[in-house]
Amino acid sequence: METTLSKKIWLSPPHMGGNEELYVKEAFASNWIAPLGPNVQKFEHAIEQFIDNGVHAACLSSGTAAIHLALQLLDVGHGDEVLCQSFTFSASANPITYLGASPVFIDSEEETWNISPQLLEKAIQERMALGRKPKAIVAVHLYGMPYKVDEIHAIATNYRIPIIEDSAEAMGSSYNGFNCGSFGEMGILSFNGNKIITTSGGGALLCRTQTIKDKAVFLATQARDDAPHYQHSRVGYNYRMSNVLAGIGRGQMEVLENRVAARRDNFEFYKNNLANCSEISFLEESKGSYSNRWLTCILTPSFTIRERVRIALLDENIESRPLWKPMHLQPIFENAVSYVNGVSEKLFNTGLCLPSGSSMEIEDLERICKIIKNKFQ
Ligand SMILES: *Cc1c(COP(=O)(O)O)cnc(C)c1O
Repeated sequence: METTLSKKIWLSPPHMGGNEELYVKEAFASNWIAPLGPNVQKFEHAIEQFIDNGVHAACLSSGTAAIHLALQLLDVGHGDEVLCQSFTFSASANPITYLGASPVFIDSEEETWNISPQLLEKAIQERMALGRKPKAIVAVHLYGMPYKVDEIHAIATNYRIPIIEDSAEAMGSSYNGFNCGSFGEMGILSFNGNKIITTSGGGALLCRTQTIKDKAVFLATQARDDAPHYQHSRVGYNYRMSNVLAGIGRGQMEVLENRVAARRDNFEFYKNNLANCSEISFLEESKGSYSNRWLTCILTPSFTIRERVRIALLDENIESRPLWKPMHLQPIFENAVSYVNGVSEKLFNTGLCLPSGSSMEIEDLERICKIIKNKFQ
């Protein structure tokens, strides 16, 4: 049987703005083909202007590297515990283990799908009672939806535990008018190929002061002491961003607001078009929160129905994906301590991320909705 596949629709493909190549050419013209240079500085400056709220940005090779450095700058080391949102991508948690520390996973609440304030406080109290006060908290604005910033930060402040704000999926999201990435003791961004803006691969650490940024850059450039020869008094990393890739980042910053608008339009389209499927529900913004709608996610009544929809899309050459599998259910973290309430497990079992690229056409969205509606009739 001959089948002709219809046009492939990806979950979240890169979307260039136009000027990226111009800035990459500048790197070639000036021979700044190195992990430093004018594009890196200008990209950092553009990020600082955008996020605002006084942050200092250090561009790095990935978001994962940014979390690794953030943990070190907060003095996380061997034998320490770090509280981490369970419902997330593994990159939020892996760097904790790089340092010989242990993640303690916290389940989500239903309103934002992010770290539950109740479970967070319970975990802090229990760990402290055991004489194991957590060194840091990794909180995530998953799918671009801000976590309960006021509540989570009030708890962290009360117990004096710093927050690493994982904003890898939330560039362009905000809470009470302030940008995600600017709330934590440290924040991180990712410019991986699937994120709302991309440098193909890359990330940034957002710091409160220039001094902390300088420390991060020092660690990210092999921890070279101030000497004419190569002198090292601590272990360093090769984590800085390439000046070539920072050129892509500069171009992407010029279109970031358009990208957010396009992804929010995707969400509105899905919501309106699928409004008659009463079995499908969407994650709504709560008061004060503004999501970049990095990925539009739907919840279905059951695992079976979710799979039916996913496979129907796949058969039509359309990529969708179940929501993140919580870390406390991952084989690699099966021995980790977790504080669980069933919320993230249920989201994982019944939820689906729909194609959400900012370059999608109305025809693509209509095609997807038609297939989904078909499964609910
Ligand atoms: C993508 C992502 C990261 C890591 O970013 P990389 O740049 O891919 O290393 C971290 N946390 C979350 C929630 C992510 O989605």
